[in-house]
Amino acid sequence: MPNRPWCILSRQTVSIATVPKDSFNREIDYLRISLTDRCNLRCVYCMPLNGLRFCSNGELLTAAEIETVVRAALRSGFRKFRLTGGEPTLRPDLLEIVQRLAALGGVRDLALTTNAILMARLARPLKDAGLRRVNVHLDSLNPATVERQMRWGTLADIWKGLAACEEAGLTPIKLNAVVAAGYNENEVADLAQLTLERDWHVRFIELMPLGGGECARLAMQRYVSNIETRRRIEEALGPLAPLEASSPSDESRNFRLPNARGVVGFISPVSEPYCGTCNRMRLTADGKFHLCLLNDDELDVRQVLRSGAHDAEERVAQILLKAVQVKPTGHHLLEGRSTEHRSMFQIGG
Ligand code: SAM
Ligand code: SF4
Repeated sequence: MPNRPWCILSRQTVSIATVPKDSFNREIDYLRISLTDRCNLRCVYCMPLNGLRFCSNGELLTAAEIETVVRAALRSGFRKFRLTGGEPTLRPDLLEIVQRLAALGGVRDLALTTNAILMARLARPLKDAGLRRVNVHLDSLNPATVERQMRWGTLADIWKGLAACEEAGLTPIKLNAVVAAGYNENEVADLAQLTLERDWHVRFIELMPLGGGECARLAMQRYVSNIETRRRIEEALGPLAPLEASSPSDESRNFRLPNARGVVGFISPVSEPYCGTCNRMRLTADGKFHLCLLNDDELDVRQVLRSGAHDAEERVAQILLKAVQVKPTGHHLLEGRSTEHRSMFQIGG
């Protein structure tokens, strides 16, 4: 008999494990899975226009390998999963990946972070495959700003994708807007205003410098504190009333505008770091557990997945628990330091 209780939570059998804690006593139960480092946009703070090198198809984890990692995560006590990238909707086998993961017992949440460009045709099939909800990245409601800041994307396409997500029931819809000086910082109130009529969460994210290149430099030069973003929103739309956190590990501080249906959130890694309540582990598209968004440390799992070992799932679970144990805390954003080797599009946000 296995030494853990077994149960059938949906179609497949899984073991129930307690949530693992790291050496800072944080419960780590949320795995963010990057499916690709490629993207159909080139947001100014995320991907440079030139000099990019992407993983080859052979370097990316396959759908079956991703399923094995998620099985290992479930047996290690993880419960929440998010697919990200790069742009995850570029994976031709995205529906298969969602189907495989949604069928595993014990998955409490399965979400997708996307720029929504391709969601007009993918939202319904993804919902049918078992995806629960989406976070959509949109920095402005001004078409010219979107083209300048998100490069290659149009507001019209993103808006069509968003509408399809809502229509398909991939809710609650959460919008992520990165605020950059000289780009969209004067337009934040227009985005927040969406919450008056819609039950969406509109979240404003502070710029972080990752990867040490031109995007990191831009992030440092164009940084806008969420203190300033909040001030602009309140000046235009009235006072923001604080809401209780939905969970202690929610990185967003949430508020409501007077008589609003939706929520305005602030994700403030620089001005209000939330490392103390971090519950995340990340898997890069090329099969490494990335221990902290703002740090380069990683543990490889692809080698084990491709070793042909009959107990690969167990061994991945051991590596994951090791990754949890050695997960660092704290960052050096205020001194302008974070990752040097990995950029945001390679980690997934
Ligand atoms: N392509 C998808 C998207 O844009 O939502 C998923 C991947 S993207 C790397 C994930 C998130 O990272 C996005 O919400 C984006 O706003 C955020 N992001 C990218 N670069 C950032 C930076 N330098 N600072 C803060 N957030 C950033
Ligand atoms: Fe692509 Fe997302 Fe990065 Fe923009 S933030 S370039 S949409 S991966």
